[in-house]
Amino acid sequence: MKKVIIATKNEGKAREFKEMFLKYELEGYSLLDLNEPVEDIEETGMTFEENALIKAEAIARQFSLPVVADDSGLEVDALNGAPGIYSARYAGIEKDDQKNIDKLLSELKGVEKEKRTARFVCAIAIARPDSDSLVERGTCEGSIAEKQEGSQGFGYDPVFIPKGESRTMAEHTSEEKNAISHRKNAILKIEKWLSDL
Ligand code: IMP
Repeated sequence: MKKVIIATKNEGKAREFKEMFLKYELEGYSLLDLNEPVEDIEETGMTFEENALIKAEAIARQFSLPVVADDSGLEVDALNGAPGIYSARYAGIEKDDQKNIDKLLSELKGVEKEKRTARFVCAIAIARPDSDSLVERGTCEGSIAEKQEGSQGFGYDPVFIPKGESRTMAEHTSEEKNAISHRKNAILKIEKWLSDL
């Protein structure tokens, strides 16, 4: 199996990438798996794509292996696309999933069901030692539940109901989530390059 670095310290994301990369005969190593310390990279971009490229290229400079990085988040229509690229820190700087969910539910209090539409977005960038970088976007449409349910997944999964579903993403198994997620849809767009790494 070929090795690829997954430029994240988020265990939930890393696990999902590793599961989905097996199909391409790629063995993923997250930043938590590497022995060398990696500084936090400042996400200074204004789009998911810019931030994914910033992360992939910064890590590729440190290691001479292909690097895959994603920048992902939740866009809520009733909040004009917020929290968007600021999803991880929506409720403050400490990246607390439960606080983020609490803030989201409170901002949407009183918003009726039909107006709670939202989508998960994932931009995935690949940086390779000897070629140009590339980036693609995948989405997963859905809506925000009125209360949280389920304990699988991570982040906003307990309040996100995929389109056509009645269960939240956190009530889906990892196989079910990996079949419909924004991350999966972004991976499909880069699969030609994944196969050639
Ligand atoms: P990033 O690490 O800067 O990409 O931040 C992503 C933010 O969006 C974090 O708050 C995550 O919890 C959230 N997020 C990204 N992907 C998912 C997902 O698949 N499910 C739930 N939340 C997600």
